[in-house]
Amino acid sequence: MNPSTASLLEFLDNSPCNFLAAANVAAALDNAGFTRLLMSDSWALEPGGRYYVVQNDSAVFAFVPGIAAPEYGFKIVCAHSDSPGFRIKPSPEMVGKSPILKLNTEVYGGPILYTWFDRPLSISGRVILRTDNPLRPETRLVNFRRPLLTIPHLAIHYNRSVNEGNPLSRQKDMLPVLAILRDKAEADGYLLRLVAEELGVAPEEILDFDLTLYDTTPACLFGPSEEFISSGRIDDLEMVHAGLTALTASLDTDSAMTRVLAVFDNEETGSGTKQGAASPILRDILRRVADSLGGDGEESFIRAVANSFMISADNGHALHPNYEEKQDPTNLPALGGGPVVKINANCKYMTDADSAAVFRAICQKAGVPVQTFVNHSDVAGGSTLGNILTSQMPLRGVDMGAPQWAMHSCRETAAVADHLSTIATFSTFYRL
Ligand code: ZN
Repeated sequence: MNPSTASLLEFLDNSPCNFLAAANVAAALDNAGFTRLLMSDSWALEPGGRYYVVQNDSAVFAFVPGIAAPEYGFKIVCAHSDSPGFRIKPSPEMVGKSPILKLNTEVYGGPILYTWFDRPLSISGRVILRTDNPLRPETRLVNFRRPLLTIPHLAIHYNRSVNEGNPLSRQKDMLPVLAILRDKAEADGYLLRLVAEELGVAPEEILDFDLTLYDTTPACLFGPSEEFISSGRIDDLEMVHAGLTALTASLDTDSAMTRVLAVFDNEETGSGTKQGAASPILRDILRRVADSLGGDGEESFIRAVANSFMISADNGHALHPNYEEKQDPTNLPALGGGPVVKINANCKYMTDADSAAVFRAICQKAGVPVQTFVNHSDVAGGSTLGNILTSQMPLRGVDMGAPQWAMHSCRETAAVADHLSTIATFSTFYRL
């Protein structure tokens, strides 16, 4: 197996949620000699240095300041750390007529609900612990790794028409079961006790948590030539991994422009958080980079932005062999056919002819085929990071992604060839 493919599978398995994805990106940056900076500190940056910032434990912004004046601008790849799924609600324990403990959950983003049934699920996320200072509690990440729960489907004998369409209630049908209790009184505080034991702390120390469910089935390749990738969270961890791999691989060359990798959180819910693409976080960081490199305030920052280019990397839809009629009739991105430029007449994507041309030229320089996605005109498409970011900064840039099937399924499918092509494209971009 190609080392980049093996590294992607490992990254997918070790990143079951946004917090762990961000932690794994940060660890890879540490290994590559990057220094972590705090937004609350003052910065003294060196041209060619390696730095990163973590926001809310769930977004990461890495940058390598250019060796030329800051007005040369930024080469940015951005992607997102979050995936649709289920978040555990506060006080989640529920017990019915039998001593079975289930957990109350809330849907995060837009998962394909029925792909989550009957899988060996586990829990990961962030737990906040009490300290002496109420303003500064301690954050710990948790990942149980072992199967703990399942969302059991109703037997077909109770719903003979299940295969003719089966509307699902998020509050009734989708709740995971966690345990067979000896005594129903055990239910109260069960989850906190379980988490506390995993972390080696007392349950009373836990002030709050952000915990989500994930499928414990490992990522794998399939197909006679191992040409397909099967995993949860391919959208958008494949692009996070491609950006990270390309950035660290490009460090052996100097660049006049500042290289940036931005991994935002909360794309799946509209990016409207302090760690999302709609916040000023990236603009704040880039402005500080420009100032620290000797920029002359807002004017030189505006000049830097005007000279910049962004690749907004969020996976796209490959032509589905069972639903060819869903795709645009003349633009048919194939799985395995290379990265996909996304274009929308109503500007849901930031791509225009100019930025698409730049991206196609980069792909050509990388020796990689490039494809085009537009929506079938009767099908409403999704949105992504690029056009949200342009409300913060008037960046020139392109929306693209690797093609995939079953976006937002618990188990998505992509192609090995597209991942390698995307890494080659991003590496070429960072080396320009
Ligand atoms: Zn996405």
